[in-house]
Amino acid sequence: MQDAKKDIRSLSQEAMIQFFESHGEKAFRAKQVYQWLWQKAASSFDEMTNLSKSTRALLETHFTFKLLEVDLMQRSKDGTIKNAVKLHDGAMVESVLIPTEKRITACVSSQVGCSLDCTFCATASLKRMRNLDPDEIYDQVVVIDRQGREYFDRPLTNIVFMGMGEPLLNYNNVLAAIDKITDPKGLGMSPRRITLSTIGVPKLIKKMADDEVKFGLAISLHSAIEEKRAKLMPLAHRSTTLADLRESLQYWYAKTGKGVTFEYVIWRGINDQEEDAIALAKFCGAIPTKVNIIQYNPIDNGPYTQASQEAVDMYKRVLEDRRIIATVRHSRGQDIDAACGQLANKQGE
Ligand code: SAH
Repeated sequence: MQDAKKDIRSLSQEAMIQFFESHGEKAFRAKQVYQWLWQKAASSFDEMTNLSKSTRALLETHFTFKLLEVDLMQRSKDGTIKNAVKLHDGAMVESVLIPTEKRITACVSSQVGCSLDCTFCATASLKRMRNLDPDEIYDQVVVIDRQGREYFDRPLTNIVFMGMGEPLLNYNNVLAAIDKITDPKGLGMSPRRITLSTIGVPKLIKKMADDEVKFGLAISLHSAIEEKRAKLMPLAHRSTTLADLRESLQYWYAKTGKGVTFEYVIWRGINDQEEDAIALAKFCGAIPTKVNIIQYNPIDNGPYTQASQEAVDMYKRVLEDRRIIATVRHSRGQDIDAACGQLANKQGE
């Protein structure tokens, strides 16, 4: 009857208290188990050393332990770690640990594959698609927290939802995972250290503002000219116009008091002219913004190439002239296909 057992991690603390009480055990056991599960990232009942052997056996008979399995861990020469993570149904996602001098950042996936079709992104080529459960998102974070301690002697400091998938199209599960990540009973991480990146779905940006979320927001913009963005991100364009996106960002700012970051890749011959930079600067005028110019990471068979250094400098000049902060982000982990837009389960081929 293995299959009939419930995953211990799906229980609320209240349900766990009930379980212990109905088996003649003290309620505080639930708190101890909860701590093992969500603060100490235990991966088996045997690790729960402050429980007696008989209590552990009781748990073993009633519950399973459904934990993520890292199928393959790859390390880049720059220190970046990419995990190919196998989910309970065999589906794979990737998550990345990005180390810098001050930070250990986890880049996590929110969906298996992605339903969007951004023409420059490798994840778009994956056919298989499903939403991740809150625990599957949470566990990617736990795995990276452990790896930070193991390989860099430091815990996780930041989380970005910039792995596979579109987080806003898995809204409830992503927010539930963030709740657990920020809950003092979970990892207790400050929401200010979490950034959700999206193509920008106006209705859901407004919903996040109404839900009073406390994490940061990044928008993958790539062009502030309608026709160009439509070519680069056809589905994003189908669900929103730049005018609607702009209006939803103003709503976000009015409600949360927080600006946003625009992620922006500059491609040769696509969006590397001054008019592109000026359109971006104008778009940024809507609310306080910062621009992250991301280096293009080539994907197989892609038609795009990275713009020249002069084009990047021109963008910086145009933006800085208008007092818009622009940083150029050099991608990490390119040698193991762990950089932005390169996550495509290649190791599985
Ligand atoms: N769907 C969300 C989350 C993915 S984040 C979103 O689009 O924001 C991944 C980031 O990497 C996005 O900003 C995306 O536009 C960018 N990206 C995709 N392919 C890329 C590539 N080949 N090179 C550099 N950045 C890329």
